[in-house]
Amino acid sequence: MENCIFCNIIAGEIPSAKVYEDEEMLIFKDIEPKAKIHLLCVPKEHFSTVAELNDTRAALLGRIFQKIGTLKDTLGLSEGYRLVINQGENAGQTVHHLHIHILGGETLPWE
Ligand code: 5GP
Ligand code: ZN
Repeated sequence: MENCIFCNIIAGEIPSAKVYEDEEMLIFKDIEPKAKIHLLCVPKEHFSTVAELNDTRAALLGRIFQKIGTLKDTLGLSEGYRLVINQGENAGQTVHHLHIHILGGETLPWE
């Protein structure tokens, strides 16, 4: 998608600090970290919300969660972390390419 920041990051047209990449997902550092460790995990396929999941995308999301679990120690998250997916306006979703916030590296406040 042309006007999507995360599609542009995936395409390498906007630079990012990548921490993991494979053929179907990318994990990179959030540009405005809200915790000591703040990563964003995105599927390479563009869609915005879980309301758009079909069986293929649901399976992809499952593999993404599985991968985050596998990588947690490598990413410095062995003491725990929080996964957040903002959906729509009331949640403050600003980028309309589904992304999982991965927050950790410290004790997190509940907000
Ligand atoms: P949302 O508010 O949609 O859940 O989260 C969007 C996130 O993307 C925000 O935490 C914001 O800091 C991050 N972000 C926005 N633009 C960029 C960018 O160009 N590069 C990176 N690395 N993160 C971005
Ligand atoms: Zn996109």
